[in-house]
Amino acid sequence: MKTISDYNFKDKKALIRVDFNVPLNEQQEVGDTSRIEGAKPTVDKILNDGGSAILMSHLGRPKGVDKKNSLRHIVAKVSEILGVDVQFVDECVGEKAQQAARNLKPGEVLLLENLRFHAEEEKGDVGFAKKLATLGDIYVNDAFGTAHRAHASTTIVVNYFKEKAVGSLLGKEIDSLEKVLGSSEKPVTAVLGGAKVSTKITVIENIFDKIDHLIIGGGMTYTFTKAQGGEIGDSLVEEDKLELALEILRKAEEKGVKIHLPKDSVIADSFSEDASTKIVLVDEIPDGWMGLDIGPETVKKYGEVLEKSKTILWNGPMGVFEMQPFAKGTIAVGEHIAAATKKGAFSLVGGGDSVAAVKQFGFEDRVSYVSTGGGAMLEMLEGKSLPGIEALKR
Ligand code: AMP
Repeated sequence: MKTISDYNFKDKKALIRVDFNVPLNEQQEVGDTSRIEGAKPTVDKILNDGGSAILMSHLGRPKGVDKKNSLRHIVAKVSEILGVDVQFVDECVGEKAQQAARNLKPGEVLLLENLRFHAEEEKGDVGFAKKLATLGDIYVNDAFGTAHRAHASTTIVVNYFKEKAVGSLLGKEIDSLEKVLGSSEKPVTAVLGGAKVSTKITVIENIFDKIDHLIIGGGMTYTFTKAQGGEIGDSLVEEDKLELALEILRKAEEKGVKIHLPKDSVIADSFSEDASTKIVLVDEIPDGWMGLDIGPETVKKYGEVLEKSKTILWNGPMGVFEMQPFAKGTIAVGEHIAAATKKGAFSLVGGGDSVAAVKQFGFEDRVSYVSTGGGAMLEMLEGKSLPGIEALKR
């Protein structure tokens, strides 16, 4: 795959698929701006070369044209972050869009209206993709968050360009995953948490050959504990995955992967912030109580493994981190990953809720890389090829 550094964009119009699907408040103001900041290196490179940038994105889930989800609301913020006056056109295909693209001069940036105002975008419609393709000379994909979708702007449009490139952000996502799953910097440790075994099983199977340690936390713990004959009270359990849990333990042994399961749990007498809590052994949870976080002994044991690791992948919280009494395990594991990173380990956090946890507890700058695409990263961890990336390889 070619990247943007393989091209000189002088006098070229780059059609860039970005992910500006940012949160807007009631006044239509942008909340978290990290996705816009993520696109800056790519736009900077193109403008510095003497090219121009046409940015296209979706925003929200509109059914047809819906002013609430207009990209017009983010023009000021995009201008501020990119440091240029961004032009806006209230269409993404058609005469108006073509005119605006034609008039664009080197050093200028044009933002198109929401791609999802057209149902053809999500359908991957060829006619719609062809119209988008007429707007630029080179196609750049920098939208990792939608790379797992075969939409017109992420996958189909590529077919109508001779020159196409991976953007800086998308490149960083791919590289960081390769750094983790193709790593010779051992030991490699994966930390998997979150609610259920069923949503992580494909990830586990895919990474087994690439890791030395697998640390397990979160709600999926109790399916393993119960499968091994432990008492788990009213903790979350997937009764139909007990055999699968034992199978995972068997496979790990076969493949020489050391699985670490919690020793103790923070238990609560209800699923609420003001529940009574206790710390008990993970396999001695009384009826009427449920495990909602890993306990201090577990944190200590996990910390020792993490701080000896050279490569770390973290997916999924260790407990119900949204409630303060059950956030300690997730925070402590984050601290150990940050400490390992400081000692030179490469750490990647990605694929779902752990990203929210990492941002909430301020670990973002203390790990090596935080992925920007929950679903897309999860699919990559599952070993699936993403249509947006495959299209760039063709
Ligand atoms: P996932 O999207 O699979 O990574 O799951 C994340 C969710 O798992 C978070 O909302 C957590 O609150 C939840 N979770 C973590 N630990 C537990 C637990 N012990 N019991 C129930 N839910 C949990």
